[in-house]
Amino acid sequence: MARTRHPTRRDVLKTAAALPAILAIRPRGAAAAGVDLPPLPEIASADATLLRPGDAGYAKYDVAHNIRTRLDPALRALCRTPAGVAQMVDWVRENDLPFAVRCGGHSYEGFSQSASVVIDVRPMAAARVDRAARVLTIGAGASLGAAYQAVARQGLAFAAGSCPTVGISGHTLGGGYGLLARPLGLTADNLLGLTLVDAHGRMVEVDAAREPDLFWACRGGGGGSFGIATEFRFKLHPVTRVVTFKASWTLPLAAARDLFRAWQAWLPTVPVAMTPVLNIASVAPGRFAMRCVGQSLGSEREVRATLGRLTRAASGAGVTVTTRSFLGAVNYFSGGSAYPVVFMKAKSDYAIAPVSEDGAMAFLTALTRQPPGAVSVLCDAYGGIIGDLADDATAFAHRKGTLYSVQYYASWTDPAETAARLAAVDAVHAALHPHMSGGTYVNYPDLELTDWQQAYWGGNLPRLRAIKRAVDPANLFTHAQSVPPA
Ligand SMILES: Cc1cc2nc3c(=O)[nH]c(=O)nc-3n(C[C@H](O)[C@H](O)[C@H](O)COP(=O)(O)OP(=O)(O)OC[C@H]3O[C@@H](n4cnc5c(N)ncnc54)[C@H](O)[C@@H]3O)c2cc1C
Repeated sequence: MARTRHPTRRDVLKTAAALPAILAIRPRGAAAAGVDLPPLPEIASADATLLRPGDAGYAKYDVAHNIRTRLDPALRALCRTPAGVAQMVDWVRENDLPFAVRCGGHSYEGFSQSASVVIDVRPMAAARVDRAARVLTIGAGASLGAAYQAVARQGLAFAAGSCPTVGISGHTLGGGYGLLARPLGLTADNLLGLTLVDAHGRMVEVDAAREPDLFWACRGGGGGSFGIATEFRFKLHPVTRVVTFKASWTLPLAAARDLFRAWQAWLPTVPVAMTPVLNIASVAPGRFAMRCVGQSLGSEREVRATLGRLTRAASGAGVTVTTRSFLGAVNYFSGGSAYPVVFMKAKSDYAIAPVSEDGAMAFLTALTRQPPGAVSVLCDAYGGIIGDLADDATAFAHRKGTLYSVQYYASWTDPAETAARLAAVDAVHAALHPHMSGGTYVNYPDLELTDWQQAYWGGNLPRLRAIKRAVDPANLFTHAQSVPPA
C-alpha cells in the first residue's frame, strides 16, 4: 500500500519544480531601466561593488525568495564593509532615493526588494567562533546555513530557524524561531550585540551596555527600520547531539479534530527540552495528514515517553525517534539544500488558549474545502525560554502565555494559480483566526493586515516608535511595514 507522506516544513516551503523552470516563468520586476539615478557614488571596490542592469553578475544577485514580490533594482550595491554601507546610506539620503536593505531575500512580502536601489549586505558573511567564550561573530550577510556550519565545526550549537538560505539579518531582527527555541530561546534572545550603520551613515556598536534601547528594538522590531546591521555577535551552546522526533497520522475529519485538541492539551506537559511543531495538511477531501515533528536536548527515553502521551490520545501514529549530531539534525529538517524560489503567501496567528472543538472543526473544514495540498498549516510550540522572558524584555512581544504560533502557508510555481492560492490561504486563516490572540509574527509579514503595528508588536509598539524617532526621525529606513517614528 502506498504510504501517505505528510509534508515536512521543508516540503511545505520547497517545491518539486526545478529552479530553471521557475526562473523561466517568473515575472520581471518593475522596469529598472526606467529609474533615473544621479551619478553613482565613488566607492572603492574593496568596500562595495555597484551593479546596474546589464552588468556582468547583476543577474546572479537579483532573486527574491518569493517571486510574487520580486523587483529588479536599478542599482544593487553589494557591500563588503561597513564603510561601503555607510557611503551608500549617505548617498541615498543625500539624493533622496528610495532603497531597500537586503540580506537573505526571504521576506514574505518583499521588504528587501526595490526597483530603485538595493543595499545588499550579502558579501559581509565571514564567521568567527570563539570556542572558549562560546561566541559567534558573523557578518550580517550570512545565511543561517553558514552560521550552523561554522558553529557545528567547533562542537557548538546556535538557535535559529530551519531553512539554511534564510538570512541571519532579517531572521534575527524579527525574532527567529527554530527547533531549539524552547530550551535555547529565539535567535534574538541569543544576540549579544551587533554593529549597525545608522541613518547618518555612522557605525554604532549596539549592545545592552552601549545602546540599550536600540538593542531592545533590534530583538524583535523587525528588519529595515533602525539601520543596516553589518555584524552580529551571538551566544552559542555546548550542544553536539540532539534527538529528532516525528509522529505521523493520516486521519478523517473527526479524528483530526481530536488530535488537534489533544496536541494543544499536551503542549503544556512537554518538557522544555523539546520543541514540537504540528504540521497539518488536507491530503484528500475529508482526510488530513498530521505530523508532530521536532527536536529535543533531552534523552530519547524522555522523548518517547512524552510522545507516548500524545499517541495514546490519538492512535495509529508512526513514530520515529533518532539521536543525531547537531548539524545532522539541521540537515535532516532542511534537506541540506537551498530552497528554490517560489510564488508564496503566508499569514500567521498566535494561540494563547486551546482552540475549542467548534473552532477546530471550522478550521479543518475550511482546510479540506481547498484542493489537497493547496494550504499547509504549521503550529510551532512556544513556552520554555521564549515564555520565561517578559513580553517587554525585548521588542518581540509574543511570549508570556503564548501556546503556539500558526502559519497558514501556500507556495506554487504557476502564476496562473496565484488568485486561487491567495483565496485558499484567506479562507483557512478566516476560519481559525477568530480563535487566536490577534498577534502575528513580524517575520511572517502580511500586507493584508489592517492593524499590523499592533499585531506585530502589541504593547511594545509605543517604545519601538519612540526609539525609531530617536534614531531615525526622518524615517530614512522605511518599507511597507517598518516601524513608524512616534
Ligand atoms: C523558506 C523560508 C523558511 C523560513 N523559516 C523560518 C523559520 O524556521 N523560523 C523563523 O522564525 N522564520 C522563518 N522564516 C522567516 C524568516 O525568518 C524571515 O523571512 C526573515 O525576515 C528573512 O530574513 P532575510 O535576511 O532572509 O530576508 P530579507 O528579505 O533580506 O530581509 C528581511 C527584512 O530585514 C531587512 N534587512 C535585511 N538585511 C538587513 C540588515 N543587514 N540590517 C537591517 N535590516 C535588514 C530587510 O530590509 C527586510 O525588511 C522563513 C522564511 C522562508 C522564506
